[in-house]
Amino acid sequence: ANLIYLPLNTAYRQAEIEYFLRDAEPRFVLCDPGALAAVRTLASAHGIEHVFTLDAHGRGTLPDASASLAPEFATVAARADDVAVILYTSGTTGKPKGAMLTHGNLVSNAQALHQAWGWCADDVLLHALPLFHIHGLFVACHCALLGASTMLFLAKFDADTVVRLLPRATVFMGVPTYYTRLLANPTFGRETCGHMRLFTSGSAPLLAQTFEEFEARTGHRILERYGMTETGMNTSNPLDGPRVPETVGPPLAGVSIRIISSDGRDLPAGEVGQLLVKGPNVFKGYWRQPDKTAEAFTADGWFRTGDLARRAANGYVAIVGRDKDLIITGGLNVYPKEIETYIDDLDGVAESAVIGLPHPDFGEAVTAVVVRAPGRADITEESLLQTLKQKIAGYKIPKRVFFAAELPRNAMGKVQKNVLRERYRTRTRS
Ligand code: AMP
Repeated sequence: ANLIYLPLNTAYRQAEIEYFLRDAEPRFVLCDPGALAAVRTLASAHGIEHVFTLDAHGRGTLPDASASLAPEFATVAARADDVAVILYTSGTTGKPKGAMLTHGNLVSNAQALHQAWGWCADDVLLHALPLFHIHGLFVACHCALLGASTMLFLAKFDADTVVRLLPRATVFMGVPTYYTRLLANPTFGRETCGHMRLFTSGSAPLLAQTFEEFEARTGHRILERYGMTETGMNTSNPLDGPRVPETVGPPLAGVSIRIISSDGRDLPAGEVGQLLVKGPNVFKGYWRQPDKTAEAFTADGWFRTGDLARRAANGYVAIVGRDKDLIITGGLNVYPKEIETYIDDLDGVAESAVIGLPHPDFGEAVTAVVVRAPGRADITEESLLQTLKQKIAGYKIPKRVFFAAELPRNAMGKVQKNVLRERYRTRTRS
C-alpha cells in the first residue's frame, strides 16, 4: 500500500508517545488493547482519528474491522526511493530523530546479509530481539523472510526459553547481554547448540571475554557485525573465514567506508578516526529535520556514523566508541574502549565503562565505573589503579574509579554513558 510504518518501543510512556505523535503526525495508530484509552486521548489531542488495537494473539479492533473487507486491493508500486519506515534513533542523548529508511535501503541490506550469512530455506531463526529496533525488525526478520526460512518468534528474550528452543533452531541473533545471560545459565552448553549453524551479535560491543567463553562452552565463534538505525548493517565478520573478536569485520557487499581525521584526511590502516559510510543501505534523511540531515553528511555524500573506528591492513574494522564519548584530557585523546579493555581484563572485574567528566585543570578527567565480579569486594579503587599504572600511560589512568552493581543500559543493551556522566558529574576530585 506504500504506507510508512513507524514502530515504537512498547515500554514508552505517555510523554514519550506524545512526542512521536506530534513529531511524526501519523494518520493511523495501532496499539495494544490495554493501552487504548490512553492512546486514544493522546491521539485525539493531536487530531488523529484512526486508532485501532491488536493484541499478542492477533485479536483486536483492527482484525474485527477488516473482517468484512474484500481480501484483494490494488497494490501500489513502490519506488526504491520511497520511504518505507521511520525508525526513531535510540536517543541516548537529545530528542529522538526519525530516520527515514526507503524500500531500496531495506532490500539492499536484506540481500547483502542474506548472502553474507548463507541463509537457506532449511534455516530456523530463533528470534528473541525487540521488534521496534532495526536489529530485530529488519536484520533478523528480513533474512528469514528472504530465505523463506522458519522463524521461532519470542515476545522477549528469556534465557530459559532460549535454551529450551535452541535445539530446534539453526540461527540466533543477539545483543551482547543475551550472550552473557546465556553463559550465566548452567543448563546452556554444547548439547543445546548441536543443531545451530550461526550465532550473530551486534548493537553494542561484544567483549572478547564473552566471545572466548562462548567458544569454550559451545564450540561456536559468535559472528559480530556492525550497523546502526540510519544505515542498517555496514560490516560483518565472515561466515567462512576468520571471525576476529573485538572487530566487526570488513564492509558488506556494496557498502564503502572511510576513516578520516577531524580535519577530513583519509587515515592509513591502524589509525583511529571518524567512520564514514556510503552505499545503497544509507538512509534518506531525518524526518522533517533538513538541518540535522545536512550535518550528518559530507559535501560529497558520505554519512557520518558518529563512531570512531580503525581499519586493519586486512580490511577488518574495529569500533572504538562513539565520537562524542572520546575523552580529551590535558589536550590528549583517550579512547574509552581502550581503557575499558584493560580494566575488563583485570582479575575480579566483571565489566566497566569509561567516561570523561569536567575537570578544572585537565578539561576532562578520565573516570571509570566498574562492576566487580561476584564476591570480589576486595577490588578497591587503589588496587585497581595500582595495577593499571603498570600497564598504561599516566594520562590514560582514571582520575577516579566508582563501583556500581550494574551499568545502566538501554533496551538494546547499550551502556548509557550519558546517564553515567550525569550521575558522577559532581563527584570528581582533582
Ligand atoms: P542504533 O542506531 O540504536 O542501532 O545504534 C547504533 C550504534 O550502536 C552504532 O553507531 C555503534 O555505536 C553501536 N554498535 C552497533 N553495533 C556495534 C558493534 N558490533 N560494536 C560496537 N558498537 C556497535
